[in-house]
Amino acid sequence: MELLHSGKVRDVYADGDDLILVASDRISIYDVALPTPIPDKGRLLTALSLWWFEQLVDLVPNHVISATDVPAEFAGRAIRCQRLDMVPVECVARGYLTGGGLREYEQTGAVSGITLPRGLGEASILPEPIFTPSSKAPMGEHDEPITYDDVVDKVGEATAERLRQITLDVYRRGAELAADRGILIADTKLELGWAPDGTLVLADELLTSDSSRFWPAESYQPGRVQFSYDKQYVRDWATGSGWNKQAPAPDVPDEVVEATRARYIEVYEKLTGNRWE
Ligand code: ATP
Ligand code: MG
Repeated sequence: MELLHSGKVRDVYADGDDLILVASDRISIYDVALPTPIPDKGRLLTALSLWWFEQLVDLVPNHVISATDVPAEFAGRAIRCQRLDMVPVECVARGYLTGGGLREYEQTGAVSGITLPRGLGEASILPEPIFTPSSKAPMGEHDEPITYDDVVDKVGEATAERLRQITLDVYRRGAELAADRGILIADTKLELGWAPDGTLVLADELLTSDSSRFWPAESYQPGRVQFSYDKQYVRDWATGSGWNKQAPAPDVPDEVVEATRARYIEVYEKLTGNRWE
């Protein structure tokens, strides 16, 4: 297999016409990969992504070919998928205001060209979920927020409309299901690509905590920065250690690794209703 790309967290191989997407146990905070892996993180996020693809398959077809027909060394944390002609847009949906969306709102009163009511702040729920795409940046660069009109310029009106529709549908369904299980999905990013037969297909990973912001519903309180379901322990530890958020990051202590692993298991079990063996 040919290694096509090694991201901060995942590796992508080509195997004939297929891709093998491999999730590692690496974790990144503040856009820096930490030197200490979180055991089972790759398997947990892969299982969660597969579960979501299946939940939403009546809404949109996905790229999954097989979760088992993968090299033995990657078993459980790799997906064989259909290699697509990727749409050059990161499709983001937001139901709550935080992060880059909040900063944009504070400067302009709008996010991605969508004017929002006055008086919103950190973690405010939006009147309705919004589509706030970003451009797919070349490797190693940060994605740039773009407007819906920019998407139309890139891919044409018909495709732009479908991207927005699918993204909001996926978000609404995902957020509704997760909220019933005690998890708020503040926002999520998905990617789509074209299959050779002209179908628009859901790719990459779906509604994992690496592609979404998950908040515990029970402690949700607008007006302050929310706890991150999975990364809070690592972030608190990193902040407390005096690390300056520039690579390289220091080693993560065992108890922080263990607590973080437990949170990934909790998210997986809560959302899917399955037990993690
Ligand atoms: P990072 O996530 O580390 O910031 P990255 O996004 O480049 O960087 P990954 O997310 O690990 O790294 O890489 C996955 C790559 O595979 C992305 O470029 C994604 O667009 C691409 N991809 C996912 N699914 C498919 C598919 N079915 N066909 C073609 N490319 C795909
Ligand atoms: Mg990516």
